[in-house]
Order: sequence, then structure tokens, then C-alpha cells
Amino acid sequence: MDSGKQLKKIIESLPEEVKLVAVSKFHEEAAIMSCYQEGQRVFGESRVQELITKEAHLPKDIAWHFIGHLQTNKVRFIAPFVDLIHSVDSLKVLKEIDKCAKNNDRVIRCLLQLHVAEEDTKFGLSKEGCREILESDAFAQMKHVKVVGVMCMATNTEQAQQVAQEFDRALEIFEWLKRSYFSEQSDFAIKSWGMSHDYGIAIEHGANLVRIGSSIFGARK
Ligand SMILES: *Cc1c(COP(=O)(O)O)cnc(C)c1O
Repeated sequence: MDSGKQLKKIIESLPEEVKLVAVSKFHEEAAIMSCYQEGQRVFGESRVQELITKEAHLPKDIAWHFIGHLQTNKVRFIAPFVDLIHSVDSLKVLKEIDKCAKNNDRVIRCLLQLHVAEEDTKFGLSKEGCREILESDAFAQMKHVKVVGVMCMATNTEQAQQVAQEFDRALEIFEWLKRSYFSEQSDFAIKSWGMSHDYGIAIEHGANLVRIGSSIFGARK
């Protein structure tokens, strides 16, 4: 698969306001470079070790997004460079991100991962869980994280209607959070949903950041 060519096709099909994270997990650096040569700068990885290896080898102007489940004890490895963490699913991990960002003298942008899918194996926060974080004293003290939106994954199903409903639920929570805790002009603006098989539905249902892997890079081994 020529990943650069696939990437170009996908970008041409996206509405202008929708940005792309090229999800390069399990794929080789050469495939990433072929997207880089097409101008892509935002790449997503879901494993800490793989991300730090690639970050060390690849151009420094890549914006690395972490999209997988993040264990507290691994935050420090990505804190020096990560551009956006999509998968904040507890106050505990957010506290650790704040601490590690401070140690690196930076502010790390984060998304709250919402649980909207049917499967209970998927990580993520309820609306109530988001509220608890954003209203906590601990969050009020944090100076080194910036919550800039939400992320979710829909149920992996052929039922387009169910997928659409789950994205609508995420959109509703996003809008409620924005109204309740952020100003209209704030940077709380990112809605990260949609993968290779469902990004069309995601865009129709509010996404402005899609995370696409296999449609660009081919199937993962
Ligand atoms: C792997 C992954 C993607 C991309 O999935 P594809 O089906 O390959 O497009 C998107 N989001 C998350 C959280 C992932 O882990």
C-alpha cells in the first residue's frame, strides 16, 4: 500500500474543517515518511514504547498524538514531546500528566475520552465522570494541562444507526461541557471521533478530528 497516495485521497475527501490524525501504530517509519512527504504532520500512536522509538527517529516537526490507553506510570516517557493526549479517562492520569508536563516546563493538551459505546471493555468517562474531574479542586490547581475537547470510539458494528447515535451522544456531552465549563471562545473545541470504517458517519455527526489508520497504511499485522 502506498500510504502517501492513500493519505492524499483521504485528505481530498475531508471537509476543510476536519483535521486528520494519521494513525501509524504497528506501521514502519518508511510508511510514515511517505505521508510526511505529502505534508502530513500529525500522527497517532497507541503504545508508549513504540511512540518514543518513532519520535526519536523521525522529523522533529511531527506532532505526535497519543490515542491509546495511557497508564499513569508511562506518562513521563511521552511528556517531553507529546502534542495531544486523546485518552484521558481518569483524574489520576490527568494529575500525572500535569506533574510530568510541569517537570518538562510545558503545557500538554488533552482530550477527555468519553465512553459512549456499548461494549463495556472500552475505556472512557461518563458525563458524570467528566463533571467530577472538571469540578475537582485538583483540576483547578493544574497549570500544565489544557483540556481542549473530547474523544470517543463507537461500537464496532455494521449498524450505522447505532454508530451515529453514539457519536450524537458524544456531541451532546461535548456541548454540555463547553457550556458548563468553558467559554465560547475557548480552545475547548476538538471532537475526535471516526476511524477507517466509520469516519464518514463521524463527520456527519460532529467530528472535527478523525483518526484514520488502516485506510492509509493498510491492515496491521
Ligand atoms: C487504531 C486506532 C484508530 C485507527 O483505527 P483504523 O481502523 O485503523 O482506522 C483510531 N483510534 C484509536 C483509538 C485507535 O486505537
